[in-house]
Amino acid sequence: MQPEEVLKKYWGYDGFRPMQREIVASALSGKDTLALLPTGGGKSVCFQVPALMKNGLAIVVTPLIALMKDQVQTLRSRGIRALSIHAGMTRREVDTALNNAAYGDFKFLYLSPERLSTQLFRSYLPILDISYIVVDEAHCISQWGYDFRPDYLEIGTLREQIDAPVIALTATATPEVADDIMEKLCFREKHLLKGSFRRENLSYIVRKCEDKAGQLAGICKGVDGSGIVYVRSRKGCEEIAAFLRGSGISASFYHAGLGTAARSERQDAWKKGEIRVMVSTNAFGMGIDKSDVRFVVHNDLPDSPEAYFQEAGRAGRDGKPSYAVLLWNASDLRRLGQIAATSFPSLDYIADIYQKVHVFYQVPYEAGEGRQLKFNLQEFASRYSLSRSSAYYAVRYLERAGHWTLTEDLDIQTRVQIVADRRVLNDIELPDYKMYAILEALMRGYDGIFSFPHAINEAFLAGKVDCTVPQLRQLLYGLALEHVIKYIPSDHSDVITLHHDRIRPGNLDLQPARYKMLKEHFERRMAAMKAYVQEEETCRQGFLLDYFGEQDAAPCGRCDVCRARRAKPVGTASALRDFIHARNGHYHIKDIRDAFENPSGTEGDYITLLRDLIDRGAVPPPEG
Ligand code: ADP
Ligand code: MG
Repeated sequence: MQPEEVLKKYWGYDGFRPMQREIVASALSGKDTLALLPTGGGKSVCFQVPALMKNGLAIVVTPLIALMKDQVQTLRSRGIRALSIHAGMTRREVDTALNNAAYGDFKFLYLSPERLSTQLFRSYLPILDISYIVVDEAHCISQWGYDFRPDYLEIGTLREQIDAPVIALTATATPEVADDIMEKLCFREKHLLKGSFRRENLSYIVRKCEDKAGQLAGICKGVDGSGIVYVRSRKGCEEIAAFLRGSGISASFYHAGLGTAARSERQDAWKKGEIRVMVSTNAFGMGIDKSDVRFVVHNDLPDSPEAYFQEAGRAGRDGKPSYAVLLWNASDLRRLGQIAATSFPSLDYIADIYQKVHVFYQVPYEAGEGRQLKFNLQEFASRYSLSRSSAYYAVRYLERAGHWTLTEDLDIQTRVQIVADRRVLNDIELPDYKMYAILEALMRGYDGIFSFPHAINEAFLAGKVDCTVPQLRQLLYGLALEHVIKYIPSDHSDVITLHHDRIRPGNLDLQPARYKMLKEHFERRMAAMKAYVQEEETCRQGFLLDYFGEQDAAPCGRCDVCRARRAKPVGTASALRDFIHARNGHYHIKDIRDAFENPSGTEGDYITLLRDLIDRGAVPPPEG
C-alpha cells in the first residue's frame, strides 16, 4: 500500500497536508527525522502512517497522559492495535501491558517518559520488535526549550539498545532547540523537515491598555463565535468570568483547582458552544480539538513566545478569520520580573523543599526509591506556610534535576482485590444480593483478583450487575466493610514519583550550573515576550516566525502593526497642500496616492482636489 492509501483506509482523508508526505517518506526511508509542524498541523499522522506500513511496534513517547489515552482510543476506534503505559499503573499492570506489547501483534505502544529508565521496561527491550522510536513533543528533551523534562533524556540511551529510526515531532522549536533535539536523540544525520508556521487567517493584535476588562468585553461582544481568554491566576479566571457574565456574555472559567467532573463538563459545554467564552489558566486547551475558535485573548503576558504561539494558535484551526489578542500595560512588565523570581526560587529554598516533601510524606533517609506520593500542593504549602507557586516551582526544579517526577492530574483507577478466602465466599452472608453478582463478575473477569489489586472498569462492571456507577461504588464499599474485598476507590491527584532514596541535607546535587543556564534562558524568553508587545515596526507574525527561525517572512497584512501601516491620513485639500510644500513643490501623482487615503475611495478625488489647488495657485503642478 502507498502512504496515501493507508491514510485513506484508516483515516478516510483524501490527501496529505503540507509537509506530511515529505515527513512520512523520510521516515519510511529509514532516516532519523525531526518534524516541525504547527499545533494542529497534523503531526500524529506523520508517524502513524509509516508505523502502520512497517512491521513491528512503534514506541511513542509522549508526556501528557490525557493525550496519550485519547490517541490510543482514537487508534483503536480505527481498528489499529495500540496500548499505553503511563504513571499510575501498578508494576503488575505494566508487566501485563509489556507482555502484550511483545506478543500481541500491536502497532503502537505509548509510553510516558519516566517508564523508559525502569528495569522492567528495559528487560522487555530484547523481545520487542520495534519499528520506530517516536518522540512526540520532542522539545521536552531540550534544556534550552521552555518545557524541558529530564526523563526525555533517557531516549538517547534507548537508542543504543534499539536499532530503529527516530521520528521526533514538535510544534515549538527555535533553531537552537531543533539542533539540540537532534543531538540529544543521537540522530545519525541531522534531518529537519519544517512546515511553515504562517497562519493566513489569524490576526495577531497587541493592545496596550489600562482598562483590560473593558477591552476584553468589547472583543467578546465584537467577535462572534467561541473564544478563550487566558489569565494567569485562578482567582483572576473566576473574577473575569464573573465580570463577562455580568456584561451579558456567555462565559465560564476553568482551572486546575476545579474537580475532574466540573472540568470535563465545562470543557464539553464550551466545545458544543453552550458556553461561548472560556476564561482559563493555561491548563485549558491542550489537545482540545475545536476548530472554530474565533478568538484567543491573553489578559496577562505569557512568559515565552513558545507558550504564546501555542495558545494563540488555538484560534482559527478551521481556516476562517480569527484573532489572537494580547492585552498589556506597564504593570505587566513589572510583574514579569516578579514571575522570574517565583519561577526560580533560590537553591537553598529548593533543597529545603526536597526535605520537606519527604518529611510531609514520612519518607525516611535512605528509603523511598520508586515510591509514588499523592502530592497535594495546597496541603503541603499550607502546612509549612509556603507560597504555593514558589513551592510548585521548587518541586518542578527538583524534577528537572532528576530527583523525582511530578505527574499532574493523574487519574488513579479504582482497584479491587478479593481478600476473603475463595472457599468462604460460597456460603458467605451479604447484605445486598447484588454483591453476589459483583463478586461473580470480579472472579470471572479478572484473573488473579485474589492475589493482587486489579484496576476495575467501573462502568463495565456496573453494566454487568445492572446498576449505576454510584450504586456500584456503594456496593463495593459495602463489600469492603464486610472484609470481603480490598477497595481502593478511583482518585484524581498529582503524584510525585521518587527516583531514588531520600538524600541527606548537604548531599543533594542541585546542579547549580544547570540552574543558572535555565534561568538565563527563561529570562531570555521573557525578554522576547516583552519585545513582542513593545514592538511597533515589525509585523507581529513576522516577529514570531523570526523567533522560530523562519526569517524574512512577508508581512501578514492583518496584524495591528500591518494595519496601522496601511492606514493613511484622509486626503483633504489642506493635507495635500502641506504635503507638497514639505517637498518644496516636487512631487508625482503617485506620491499623493501612496501617502493618502482617498476621501471617497476613488482615485478621481485626488485629481479634483489637486486641480483646484493648482488653479488657485496654492501648489505647483506635479512633475513627470
Ligand atoms: P498536531 O499533533 O500537529 O497538533 P494532530 O495530529 O492532532 O495535530 O492533528 C490535528 C487534526 O488534523 C486532527 O483532527 C487530525 O485528524 C487532522 N488531520 C491531520 N492530518 C490530516 C489530513 N491529511 N487531512 C485531514 N485532516 C487531517
Ligand atoms: Mg500532537
